[in-house]
Formats: sequence, structure tokens, C-alpha cells
Amino acid sequence: MKKLVNIIYNNNPHSLEAFDTLTNELSSAGFNFTTKFSNDALVTVCIGGDGAFIRAVHRTNLSAIPIIGINTGHLGFFQEVNPDDIASFVRDLKAENYIIEKMDLIECQIKTVDEKKTVHAINEFAIKGLANKVIHIDVYIDGCLFEKVSGDGVIVSTPIGSTGYNYSCGGSIISPCLKTLQLASIAPISSKAYRSLNNSLIFPSDASLVIRPEYREDIMNVIADGVQFSFSDVIRLDFAYSNRTLNKMVINDKPFWKNVKEKFL
Ligand code: NAP
Ligand code: MN
Repeated sequence: MKKLVNIIYNNNPHSLEAFDTLTNELSSAGFNFTTKFSNDALVTVCIGGDGAFIRAVHRTNLSAIPIIGINTGHLGFFQEVNPDDIASFVRDLKAENYIIEKMDLIECQIKTVDEKKTVHAINEFAIKGLANKVIHIDVYIDGCLFEKVSGDGVIVSTPIGSTGYNYSCGGSIISPCLKTLQLASIAPISSKAYRSLNNSLIFPSDASLVIRPEYREDIMNVIADGVQFSFSDVIRLDFAYSNRTLNKMVINDKPFWKNVKEKFL
């Protein structure tokens, strides 16, 4: 039986062009492909930018099928394959010239008066209040009330996500070789009335990080990689590394710091 490839792509003209090239190369190399996600596929190829890659991971329900990206966005942090290299990518795929790397996920357990829910993220969780209101939260580290943050919210990010929203909020860029959680504030108020640390905090993966609303917030929004979930009557949010991981197909391991330099410096 022919090997099957899932393809997920967005509608930008570069992605459509890459889609045509990819499907032609796959067919000549003897692969079948589908744009309707199949659980029997060898690999899922996502054509787009980092945003598209993250959305693909969530849309396919954190599937264990290896995923690889063709970059038609800006400088893709998740994307392995350049659109000019699609033919050689298909050759590598056929020759099984690749490795599968685990990609960590973090989870946020939300406990409210009425429910318990767990959501996952690759990049980060942003915790915000209703609409544009200031949110007041208590941050507990390893069981102790460490600080109170009042402001637009906080971000809890992975090393992979550290170059995303976290970086825009003054957080540090963390090498993905490390397994950390980083807590950064979004426009924290710093006055006599409200005081929190100005810099982000970085924890080992097994630290206990808990956020509670200081008073009863009407609504708390948990935004997982840009996707918003709203909760009322929140009691606590617990953050941790998930037992679930993603499988990323890697063909040419691009040095992380080279990527960072190209994107930011
Ligand atoms: P989007 O417009 O697709 O993403 C916003 C920007 O973040 C894009 O330029 C995207 O790169 C980039 N990005 C995503 N993950 C990244 C990573 N790990 N490292 C470096 N850059 C990264 O918006 P979206 O669909 O809502 O995407 C969700 C992500 O956007 C979130 O996970 C968050 O990290 C990021 N975000 C950033 C800000 C901010 O910086 N102020 C605010 C909200 C959300 P591509 O162009 O390659 O897609
Ligand atoms: Mn994008």
C-alpha cells in the first residue's frame, strides 16, 4: 500500500504554490496525500508560518503523527522545510532520512466553582481578564504566595514559545534544550498600591506554579497559543509540563541560536 501524507495549508499565495509543488513531488515519488486529516498517515505536512503550525497542531488534536512544516510565513521557528527545498524533502521522506523529535507541551488545569478543565499549549498560556480590564492575580510558587500581579495579565511560556509573546513582553529567550516554565507579566502596574517584579521568572519543569484570582474576577481568559477559553468563578490555575508530547519530524536540524539571530538581530 502507498504511504499516505496529510497536508494542512493556508490560503496565502505562497502556500498554494508550495501545495502544488508538494503534491506533484509526492505523486511522482509514489506517495498518496490527503487534505482531510487521516490517522493512518506517515506524516502531517503543514504549509504556512509559525501561527499556521500551531493552529495545525491544535486542530489535529495534538495528534501523535509526526508533523513537519514548510515555511511560507516569515521566519518560521517551527518550520523545517524551505519552499525551494520541497523536492529534496520528498526524497528524504522516501529514503526515511529523518529523525523524530519529541516536542514538549505544557498544560493548564483550570479549577472553577463548577468545573475542571485542562488545556494544552506549545508556545504559551496568556492569562487575562475580561475585555480590557486590569486583572489582579496571586502567584504561588512551590506552595508559597510569591507575588501579586496587577496588569493586563501574565504569560506562562515554554522555551519554544519564549521567542513569541513572551519575548514581546520582555521575557528571556530560552534554549529549547532546557525544560523550563517562564512567567512574564503583561504591562504590570508598578506603584505604591501595586507592586510585582519587573522581570520574568524562570522555573524548572517540576516546580509548582499556581495562579489564583486575588478577588473574584468575573471572567478569566486562558489563551492557549492564541486560542481563548473563558472561565467564570475561577478558583485556581495549575501549570505543568504535560505527559503528552508531540512528534516533530526533523530533517535538517537548524541551530536554534542561528534562527534567533536571523529573526531578532
Ligand atoms: P499570528 O499572527 O500567527 O502570530 C503572531 C506572531 O507570532 C507571528 O509573527 C508568528 O510568526 C509569531 N510566532 C508564533 N509562535 C512563535 C514562536 N514560538 N517564536 C517566534 N515567533 C512566533 O497569531 P496567532 O495565530 O494568534 O498565533 C499565536 C501566537 O502568536 C501565540 O502563541 C503568541 O506567541 C503570538 N502572539 C504574540 C503577541 C505579541 O508578540 N505581542 C501577541 C499575541 C500572540 P509567523 O509569522 O511565522 O506565523
Ligand atoms: Mn502567522
